[in-house]
Amino acid sequence: MNAAARPSHVAQAARNGAVLTVDLDAIAANYRLLVERAGGAAVAGVMKADAYGLGMARVAPALVRAGCRVFFTAHVDEGIRLRDIVPADSAIYVLHGPPPGTAADFVGHGLIPVLNDPGQVREWNALCARLGRRLACAVQVDSGMSRMGLSSADLAALGEARDWLAACEPVLLMSHLACADMPGHPLNARQRARFDAIRARFPAMPASLANSSAVFLGPDFRYDLVRPGAALYGINPQPDAPNPLRQAVSLDARIVQVRTIEAGDAVGYGARYVADGTRRIATIAVGYADGWLRALSGRGCAYVDGVRVPIAGTVSMDSITLDVTGIPEARLQPGMTVELLGPHQHVDQVAAEAGTIGYEVLTRLGARFERRYVHER
Ligand SMILES: *Cc1c(COP(=O)(O)O)cnc(C)c1O
Repeated sequence: MNAAARPSHVAQAARNGAVLTVDLDAIAANYRLLVERAGGAAVAGVMKADAYGLGMARVAPALVRAGCRVFFTAHVDEGIRLRDIVPADSAIYVLHGPPPGTAADFVGHGLIPVLNDPGQVREWNALCARLGRRLACAVQVDSGMSRMGLSSADLAALGEARDWLAACEPVLLMSHLACADMPGHPLNARQRARFDAIRARFPAMPASLANSSAVFLGPDFRYDLVRPGAALYGINPQPDAPNPLRQAVSLDARIVQVRTIEAGDAVGYGARYVADGTRRIATIAVGYADGWLRALSGRGCAYVDGVRVPIAGTVSMDSITLDVTGIPEARLQPGMTVELLGPHQHVDQVAAEAGTIGYEVLTRLGARFERRYVHER
């Protein structure tokens, strides 16, 4: 096949191992679906880890166009970067709050810290008092996950909220669920009850408890603001129900070489795959350094024109070997691509085969790919 006959994306992939395509329309559609399901609660966009690896600089504007004006990052630096991307009237919450000594950075960049411990509370309140400005902050409380937020002991020690928040402007009371993707888990109701009990001590403060999965736990979990991340990017928020969201990524990997091997020939590190007859093996230019987890050795697969081709042997750092015996030879020339993510293979499926979750597969997708953003308007 000559180069001109190939689809253009194949020819252009030749300098990289793969093309990662991010569908911004799908992300916007997912946002709108979440707005519908949120039943009147405001819907934020969670942007941490560079929008779950998909590229905050392109994803955030797409969400803005879909109507999103509230964002969450994990770190101050992520918030500072996002400030230059979204409109000035957008709220940017920083989940980890101000590390000691950084409160002033929040003021300069218009970021809202999520205060998680008494030290952060004191530092923010003191800064507000010093500046004579009631600066916005969120307060996170631990309702049963034991990861972030003020504990019961912290709350007791701090005393009356109106005192320890006297100089600042608390705009959100939030907590996070440990088991939202397991609708039947008893901790969900326990965390909600604990959150309600704490809320009584912060009258009139808007509240937020729900991540993606909790949006689907029912109206009791949505409060005033929901904070989806994963669902925006197509991950199924309810693992036991059909996925109502659109997959936002596809990954097409370039074929480097194709060879024919005979019975007894081994493939890859550790010789873990040994052919039981004549086989054709295609080597693609994606490996575990690109986030295609080594746990997928001998388990995962790719697709060629919708036909499943299993991974043969161990995933290497920069390459993977596929058993393509079932595919016509003309379809498998060096430079052509196979589907690792796309219409035939969902992130959640890859994750299940690797023994992990879609979040980890997405956030690890490598920096070496050529990245395309489609349907940007
Ligand atoms: C990551 C995170 C979210 C988003 O969770 P998803 O499951 O991706 O929707 C919401 N809130 C907090 C506190 C988080 O850390």
